[in-house]
Amino acid sequence: MPIGSLDDLDSTELEKEWDALQNSLSKSERMQLAAIVRSEAPHLVEYFYAILQSHEKLSDMLPDGLVESRLVHTLTQWLLALFPQDQPPAFEAMMEQQLKVGSVHARIGLPVQYVNHAWRILAEDLQVRILRNSKTEAMMNALLRVVSSTLNIAFEIMSAGYNRDTTRAARSEEAYRLYSLGQNLSQEREAQRAALAEWTQNILFSIAADHYAGDRTALAESEFGLWVTHRGNVIFEGMAELKKVNATISEIDKTIMPGLKSGQNPAADLVRLQARVNEIKALLGECFAAATRLEGGHDPQTRMLNRRFMETILMREISYARKMHRPLSIIMVDIDHFKSINDRFGHAGGDLVLQACAKRVLDLTRIGDFVFRYGGEEFLIALVETGVDDALNMAERIRSAFECEAIAITDEQNVNITASIGIAEFKGHPDYQELVKSADEMLYRAKQAGRNRVEIARNTVEA
Ligand code: GH3
Ligand code: MG
Ligand code: MG
Repeated sequence: MPIGSLDDLDSTELEKEWDALQNSLSKSERMQLAAIVRSEAPHLVEYFYAILQSHEKLSDMLPDGLVESRLVHTLTQWLLALFPQDQPPAFEAMMEQQLKVGSVHARIGLPVQYVNHAWRILAEDLQVRILRNSKTEAMMNALLRVVSSTLNIAFEIMSAGYNRDTTRAARSEEAYRLYSLGQNLSQEREAQRAALAEWTQNILFSIAADHYAGDRTALAESEFGLWVTHRGNVIFEGMAELKKVNATISEIDKTIMPGLKSGQNPAADLVRLQARVNEIKALLGECFAAATRLEGGHDPQTRMLNRRFMETILMREISYARKMHRPLSIIMVDIDHFKSINDRFGHAGGDLVLQACAKRVLDLTRIGDFVFRYGGEEFLIALVETGVDDALNMAERIRSAFECEAIAITDEQNVNITASIGIAEFKGHPDYQELVKSADEMLYRAKQAGRNRVEIARNTVEA
């Protein structure tokens, strides 16, 4: 299914194709086709869902009950509507129907590859059933052609609907995350602190007064708990600290609070409660600190730009260089034998060295340049308005900065580091990946030639 989005869908063309296709069937052929589809539909539908449910990831999403009570009927109707026995199906209604199906799939997050797989099998299955059931060869050929084109057009529209809605959902998710990050980070921080303090205070008062307000004391259900579950999980999605926060909340609710309520050992339980609450505060503090760094798009460890912004930035810089006829160069730096640093000093030691390396690179570049953490210990620098000669100078300065000054791991321990560097200059190719690839190839050449060197691509791909 070749369609990328609804914009790519040429519905006028499709409609012409559709009408011609439908009109190519005689009345008796149409009736024969409808009869085959009607009698084979139960097998087709059953097989379709068996295929989908056989994918482990989908079995939860499509429980047997749902398939039997709703989906079997829906798919059967879908098939019958595509191959009716009296009138050829009208294009507009058909299109609307397919877009709707695509939207539903997008909304429930059905992974497209599985759906495509099942559709393909359904199409093949239907064709086999036509082969078996056609009365004459001429009839068989006519039906096969119409079935395969009809399904193709339907799937094409469905995919367009699916893609439109998935892209829209992804965009708004990102927008919401950025919104909640950018807008209110410090406000959020204050609000959740106050909510946690309020909960703790209420618990202490209740204990002092020897009176609990029913069961509504669970931290998870307090204003603070709701904040963590809803907003916190959006803002700090995927952070390990947040998982710990959730686990600690549940420990408080499930073990410490029942103990406190029983009143058997209140002093010890209070000490535990205080320790856990402090832990939550510290963990959330780390979450906020990390989010503040991310907010500026930076990798927390190296303070360089996060790689996920590379595409946007390089595309913009390339388009600027093209339009304004300005030079642009890319430098790719990879630390030599970094594995041996980890082997000698452990991963934590390696991290320290990496941070020092990153700082060295950042100190040498200009504030207008873009420095990305490209990989583990690989950095990519976009030198704006810079031709090869200046890029070469910069690369040499970076290389010798590493070679000439050892990095201090502790007060007594220094380590000597070198780096290999590849350079490519923008020569008009609009695809930023070509430029990156070219710098990467030069880096590889520098490694091959013995490391601690700079290599430059003299003939970067022309547009
Ligand atoms: P080469 O000269 O060929 O580049 O050798 P190398 O050992 O540097 O090899 P390579 O670039 O392939 O591997 C880089 C290693 O850096 C692999 C990984 O263990 C380590 N590394 C990547 N990211 C980090 C990090 O964030 N911290 C630490 N401590 N090590 C990292
Ligand atoms: Mg390396
Ligand atoms: Mg590397």
